Amino acid sequence: MEKQEAQAIEILQMICGNSGCVIGDSGGKDSSVLKHIAIKAKEKYSLDFRIRHNHTTVDAPETVYFVREEKKRFEKMGIPYEISMPRKTMWQLIVEEGVPPTRLMRYCCLELKERTGDIGERLVTGVRKAESTNRKQNQGIITIPKPKKGLKAQTEENENFISTVKGGVVVLNLDNSETRRIVESCFRTHKTLINPLIDWDDEFLWWYIAHENICINPLYGCGQDRVGCIGCPMAGNQRWQQFERYPKHKDAYIRAFEKMIESRKQKKLEIRPEWKTGKKVFKWWMEDKNMDGQLAFDLDGNIYEEYT
Ligand code: SF4
Repeated sequence: MEKQEAQAIEILQMICGNSGCVIGDSGGKDSSVLKHIAIKAKEKYSLDFRIRHNHTTVDAPETVYFVREEKKRFEKMGIPYEISMPRKTMWQLIVEEGVPPTRLMRYCCLELKERTGDIGERLVTGVRKAESTNRKQNQGIITIPKPKKGLKAQTEENENFISTVKGGVVVLNLDNSETRRIVESCFRTHKTLINPLIDWDDEFLWWYIAHENICINPLYGCGQDRVGCIGCPMAGNQRWQQFERYPKHKDAYIRAFEKMIESRKQKKLEIRPEWKTGKKVFKWWMEDKNMDGQLAFDLDGNIYEEYT
């Protein structure tokens, strides 16, 4: 057994062995590895776990089908798998918030992606430091986003804990009994995230997927290295490819932006000069520098985009 795999299984057993946990499944490769590890922990330690996927309403169709298949596969093994639907769709949120989601205003994440269950629930994520700079600084084996003052004071003198800039506490390792005791106490009152794959780098992760023959989202086979929400403001230039592949989602965003403008008018809110129509909001949102009046042609000479 590989060292990284053994460590991840031990972390799950150490933290969730007594009362079970919820494995968060985003439909991405990290989640697939995590589910595989959880099965191994079940085989070795009878780990009790269930799986939850948060449907975002802007998932790629391939992800939606893959998740449905995963649900059937795990339920056949007797492992509960919930597909949780949000209270509002992305399109409703855009109208309600009155602005498109941006890198600085990711209101959609809280509603669509990061919904968690009950207080005290042990939520296991596939978060890895290799995935982003933010995670390098703000995540450890365990992340406690909003600790109570008492817990924070308990962790201040302990070298296995660091505070995050957002006021949370990150557990760097669980190698001594005092650290474990403090972590145990936080489970009773706080939502806590457990990240057993936190130190896995990309190279090892891909090697492990191939070595263990883990079934992953088919989008990775289509050249995508990220399978998040279609149009996510954090996806940078990948958004252009996404909207080429899923034109109906582009139309849905434009319709939502049109309704958003109407709603702003009704509320007598200011409307930016660049936001005259839904299509223009979409251009602004995509940071599209094409000038009005330009035409884009496909390889057969047909117009497929008119900039108006
Ligand atoms: S679009 Fe991006 S920011 Fe919004 S919910 Fe999805 S991942 Fe989060």
